[in-house]
Amino acid sequence: MSYEIRNPLEHSPTPANSRDTFDVIISIVPTNSFQIIRNCATCNRKTRFQNSNRFRVNANGNKIDVWLIYSCEHCKHTLNLSIYERKSPSQIEPSEYQKFLQNDETLAEKYGSSKNFFSQNKAEIDWETLSYRYTKEFGQASKTTQTSFVGHIYIQNDYDLNIRTDKMASEILQISRSQLKKLIKDQKIVLTKQHRNVIIEVNE
Ligand SMILES: [Zn+2]
Repeated sequence: MSYEIRNPLEHSPTPANSRDTFDVIISIVPTNSFQIIRNCATCNRKTRFQNSNRFRVNANGNKIDVWLIYSCEHCKHTLNLSIYERKSPSQIEPSEYQKFLQNDETLAEKYGSSKNFFSQNKAEIDWETLSYRYTKEFGQASKTTQTSFVGHIYIQNDYDLNIRTDKMASEILQISRSQLKKLIKDQKIVLTKQHRNVIIEVNE
């Protein structure tokens, strides 16, 4: 098995002329590596595994294997997540290879927040422990928390984080979920999913 991972730092394009369409564009980004829920053979139960920020590189003849090492939060039992399997050295970018050897933390976190990488490894992400933040890409984000705000907010979810649409909306508008629910019912707020991204429409 060999595969390429999507570069999680690569931003997917926002819709054309999005700056004309939306008043505010906000990105949602993870602030640390995803954790995994998995049965630990040593603990003999389901536990959380965390990114050790270390790689394991195996060079066997002309074939190279690279893993990212996760470890059980209780007993440090390790779990290797495959990055490359049986690749020839020419197939791995030399600068990336150096980073594997140096246990480059930024690269480890990049893999650790790529949803695609986890699904390729059939690893179950623990969404409960996910930490994330919102960053303003365009417009006056602070306006969205004012009750007088009317307009369109675009939430760019490049990392495809599993966060409920209504949770994102209530966090960005800084209102409770029950307030949000009422505003949706009154058609003051309309939430639309666009693939993994979300549009919040705030009407008068
Ligand atoms: Zn364990």
